[in-house]
Amino acid sequence: MSLQIFDTHAHYTDEVFEGDRDELLSSLPAFGVKRVVIPGCDVKTSREAIALSRRYPWIFAAAGIHPEEVLRMRGGDPERIRDMLADSRVVAVGEIGLDYHYGKESAEEQKALFRTQLKMAEETGKKVIVHSRDAWEDTVGIVSEFPAVTGVFHCFGGSADGAAWLLRRGWMISFTGVLTFRNARRPLEVVKTIPLDRLMVETDAPYMAPEPNRGKRNDSRNLVYVIEKIAEIKGESPEKIAEDTYLNACRFYGVEP
Ligand SMILES: [Zn+2]
Repeated sequence: MSLQIFDTHAHYTDEVFEGDRDELLSSLPAFGVKRVVIPGCDVKTSREAIALSRRYPWIFAAAGIHPEEVLRMRGGDPERIRDMLADSRVVAVGEIGLDYHYGKESAEEQKALFRTQLKMAEETGKKVIVHSRDAWEDTVGIVSEFPAVTGVFHCFGGSADGAAWLLRRGWMISFTGVLTFRNARRPLEVVKTIPLDRLMVETDAPYMAPEPNRGKRNDSRNLVYVIEKIAEIKGESPEKIAEDTYLNACRFYGVEP
């Protein structure tokens, strides 16, 4: 099967790719993976993402500080991210957002950082890549403060109502290998409700490897399993899902198809 695939979210800066990163990234187009966005989680990984995007024409970068990094970040880091947004290989601010999975100790700092980075997106006209875990109410509350900013909720775990709220405001929804997990029920119901022109796909590599590779190191070659699952849910061909999500992501990120 020959597909044209856009992996909208893969952490190829992660140390687990140390041994074979260049070999893997060079091989992706041969597997149909024609575009990849590598998001940053802090200043270091944002810089590394940009460096990789310079080396491979099919790779693009996002720059941002992840909510889980908020207590580790140093003064001046948000300004360093802002400077990176001027780079032509940087297509979005991300990943940014709120994560209360391990508690709410840093909630105030996370919210402040999220607002700072949404403001940067507003000022530069960039899209945002939002990470929201166990923090739906606060995330949409803050997003509503920036009506001019749109982006994607990555690895979407919200409800169909939540997705509808985002779609009305011009946002995109992106799904990972979670869709293929045996216990996945809600995300499957949500996928059904999302119009084909608002969907994107991602690995979130090295995490979230889909069945049948669940638990292993993930990479963009596995995205075909996510595409096949969406095709099954939507009653479309995998080729159609791959092409639509590819073109959606090109349009969304302002990348040439
Ligand atoms: Zn991520």
